[in-house]
Amino acid sequence: MVKTYKIAVLKGDGIGPEVTEATVKVFNAVVKVSNFKLDYKYGEAGAHCIPEHGTNLPKGTVEMIKQTDACLKGPMTTPEEPGAPVSVAVTLRRMFGLYANVRPCKSFPSVESLKPNIDLVVVRENTEGLYSGAESLLAPGVAVALRIITREASLKVAEFSFKLAMQRKKHLTYIHKGNILRITDGIFKDAVKEVQQKYPEVTVDDLHIDAATMQLIKQPAIYDVMVTTNLFGDIISDEAAQVTGSLGLAAGANIGETYGMFEPVHGSAPKYTGMNRVNPIATILAGAMMLDYFGEKSGAKKIEDAVNAVLVEGKVRTADLGGKSTTSEMADAIVEKVK
Ligand code: NAD
Repeated sequence: MVKTYKIAVLKGDGIGPEVTEATVKVFNAVVKVSNFKLDYKYGEAGAHCIPEHGTNLPKGTVEMIKQTDACLKGPMTTPEEPGAPVSVAVTLRRMFGLYANVRPCKSFPSVESLKPNIDLVVVRENTEGLYSGAESLLAPGVAVALRIITREASLKVAEFSFKLAMQRKKHLTYIHKGNILRITDGIFKDAVKEVQQKYPEVTVDDLHIDAATMQLIKQPAIYDVMVTTNLFGDIISDEAAQVTGSLGLAAGANIGETYGMFEPVHGSAPKYTGMNRVNPIATILAGAMMLDYFGEKSGAKKIEDAVNAVLVEGKVRTADLGGKSTTSEMADAIVEKVK
């Protein structure tokens, strides 16, 4: 029997519609040569919804997402004024318990990078830390933000990361700032060490966040799975993506017990809105991660192979890769390779 997966598609803001449409084109090409189907359910979310709905995540969209198997999320603009709605990504991660943000960084063929042979995955705790949203003004000019770290969430993300390390090179690095944040990062460190007992085959080491940012520039090739708290993970995954080649190539998965949301690491890059200029590969590879999550390994591999083939050929390159091709030309080239 042909299996059909229901996918929520949120196009988002800025460059979001362009990169999600490119991904749907590639999905459609993969479906044609595979033994499964994708049923798209489109929903509105993002800053563009605020004037009409008073929120960036309308109720109807949440209800629609609940009826689906996974979500393809385009990047969204988050207004920065105090009191503005919380980021849609942060809300969905909490609402659906998507506790592990998985951001692979792998060297791409024929893409210039700061250092060669990178193949690492940043696993970022996705539900708490400095993204708790608990921020307040104590007095004019004096404010606090709560960095919430719990044993429960730390154990969950540690367990996920060790399992991932077991499927890869069996090397896990946990990243913290335990010399300064002794209590919060103390809990995180203890959780990693507790889970470590179950995985004696995994080589474990740790880095302070400042040293980790330096190491990612100096010798990224020696790392495999890097697990850390929310904000540190956000920062080092952008850094690792750029060291690997471009933010336009970096995909991410948000994984929970029963749901997965897939998105590019990059944001909505508002200055490029509607210019058909940015690289859609990050979102297309997020799509490959979704197929992998469904267990459609061959579909996922078709996308990865097609992306690699286009990059190796080097005829179609978007501006971030030093070329002049458009977003849609890149999508079409990948579609051709999938066929
Ligand atoms: P950004 O990632 O949108 O853009 C930073 C720069 O990276 C761009 O100016 C561009 O030079 C480059 N870039 C990004 N995506 C690219 C692509 N596909 N191809 C080529 N180059 C690309 O980061 P920002 O400017 O800090 O944020 C813009 C908005 O996006 C903000 O409102 C922010 O809150 C939001 N954001 C959303 C998400 C999300 O939805 N998950 C993630 C990060 C940022």
